[in-house]
Amino acid sequence: MPPSTLHEAAHDTLHADRNRLDALLEAVPLAVALFDGTLSLVATNARYRELTGQDSAQAMGRPIYDAFPNALADLTEQIDIAAGGAPVVSVRVPFQQRGGRRLVEASFAPLTDGHGGRGVLFAGSDVTEREELREDLARSVAQLESIFDVLPDSVRVVDAEGRTVRTNSQAQQEHASSNPQSLRELWQLDRPRTLSGTTLFVHEHPTARALRGERVRGETLEVRRGAGGEAAVVEVNSNPLYDPHKRVRGAVTVERDVTERTRLQQQVQTEAERLERMVQERTRELLALQEAASRDRRLAAVGQLAAGVMHDVNNALNPIMAAAYLLEMNAENPVAVRDYAVRIARAAETGAATASRVGRFIRQEPLLGSREETVDLSVMVEEVVAMTRPLWQERAKGGVVTLDQSLAEGALVRGIAGELREALLNLVQNALDAMAGGGTLRIRTTIGEEISVAVSDTGTGMSAEVRERAFEPFFTTKGVNGTGLGLAEVYGIARRHRGRAEIESAPGEGTTVRLVFPPGIREAVAAPEAPRRRRTARRILLVEDHTDSREFMQALLETDGHVVEAVRNVEEARALIGDPAYVCEVLVTDIGLPDGSGWDLVGYAREQRPALRIGVVTGWEPRNEQDPACDFTLRKPVGAADLLAQIAGDA
Ligand code: ADP
Ligand code: MG
Repeated sequence: MPPSTLHEAAHDTLHADRNRLDALLEAVPLAVALFDGTLSLVATNARYRELTGQDSAQAMGRPIYDAFPNALADLTEQIDIAAGGAPVVSVRVPFQQRGGRRLVEASFAPLTDGHGGRGVLFAGSDVTEREELREDLARSVAQLESIFDVLPDSVRVVDAEGRTVRTNSQAQQEHASSNPQSLRELWQLDRPRTLSGTTLFVHEHPTARALRGERVRGETLEVRRGAGGEAAVVEVNSNPLYDPHKRVRGAVTVERDVTERTRLQQQVQTEAERLERMVQERTRELLALQEAASRDRRLAAVGQLAAGVMHDVNNALNPIMAAAYLLEMNAENPVAVRDYAVRIARAAETGAATASRVGRFIRQEPLLGSREETVDLSVMVEEVVAMTRPLWQERAKGGVVTLDQSLAEGALVRGIAGELREALLNLVQNALDAMAGGGTLRIRTTIGEEISVAVSDTGTGMSAEVRERAFEPFFTTKGVNGTGLGLAEVYGIARRHRGRAEIESAPGEGTTVRLVFPPGIREAVAAPEAPRRRRTARRILLVEDHTDSREFMQALLETDGHVVEAVRNVEEARALIGDPAYVCEVLVTDIGLPDGSGWDLVGYAREQRPALRIGVVTGWEPRNEQDPACDFTLRKPVGAADLLAQIAGDA
């Protein structure tokens, strides 16, 4: 090979080496500069030129001490060390650049060249960004740490073995004196329990559970803390900490003291429970009171009912008992036996009537058609007036009672005559009771879409409360003189007749009670009961010591047109009978009289006045079969029809 060719080859080789070196220099992520044995710059890469702000022409051949013109630190020492043969541990050097400061981690390494000369290799790594990141990170960590410390919660980080790695200041404060180094120590100090008081084993501690990979949320525990070991309630959260391979490397546990909150909650709850209990108690008391009040009312009503029933039942039982006794005495006498049997039956009927009267208050169902008839209310008013008139003065306690009557023709309703009469009687009686000292009794019947009868008085009137309660069974303001059944019965009767009863009244203004019925059928008018027979008026001497009976019979007889002289005992009767001036056609006498027997009077009368028609009213005494002197006998209680028929002599 010719020398020129060799030279060229060498040159080529060199050239090739040079290219390889340049490529190598460019490939490394560092700023690189190569200095030969004379410490002159022989090779650079773009990063170096960029760092120092030179192009390759400017750079080539520069002495090493001038090779870093924009370095902000003196590098002489490091260059000398490297030139002396020892490598320089990297040093941080700031460089001034147009774009700003760059921080470079620089190292100088000694090099031996082919001729035994000593060169130096500079390698610089730009760590500006990395350093900024590191500073940011440090700042963030510092911030996090201050947040960590400022938290009111206690934060504790442990490693996989449960050793304390880090605590915040709250956690440190809580265990200032003891400074637990592990979860076990902490557990011993805290003696954690559940809220229900069960002691927690160390492996049940939230931190221990987090170390097994569990996320523990909002566990509430009671712990002992502080010098005095006071109980505190803490809410604990714990999370496992993982490494990049997802292995648990520790746990972070955050505890919050909720002692006060728990205490307040309990207080609120206790208070709420107390209030609720109080409300319940009051409600119970109130209900009990109400119940007692209505029970009292019911009992009072039942008591009144019982008293009334007892009175009536006694009235029925007395004669039954008397008759039973007499039956036993006269068991051999068939006539007497029959007589007592009849009396017993009759007394029992009275009892049954009482029972059905009570029953009527209990049921107020409408009537069934069959027992109904058409009743003319105006005619019925006249009857009731005629029946009661003789008693008005007595009932109104001596005052004068005037009648103001206005009766419509054909005030027809469907119903039971007996019940309607009873209702009117009750209203008239109440009106008279209210007019002690007299007044005006007004009775009115009207016909319209409905048929009504109104009974008014000019008496005391009713307060609102009395008006409200007047229809209640057993409600009375008359004490022992009232039963409180009158208006209740009126109300029931009105209801049973598909009608209603209304009261208009004010204290001192009198009272109107109105019964309103649906109209009856005009065509179906039946003659109201039997047509009245005109009787011959008779003069009658009535002897009866019992006031009610006497007044009843007198009223009845007078209503029928007779003239009645009523006396109370044998003596008065004898005086009249013995007086030739005294005119009398009929004698009606009771048997049990205070000053003697009615039979003696009968004997005397028969002797004195043979033509006299004589009747006796017997109670429970056995009939004197030997004394045939009387013309008729009536048994107590005396029926009105019986009495009138006997007086007329047509029975
Ligand atoms: P009693 O007449 O036995 O008291 P009632 O049921 O007939 O029972 O009446 C109840 C109450 O209604 C009476 O006690 C009375 O206070 C009041 N009352 C009824 N009618 C009248 C009236 N015409 N005027 C004033 N008060 C009356
Ligand atoms: Mg009454």
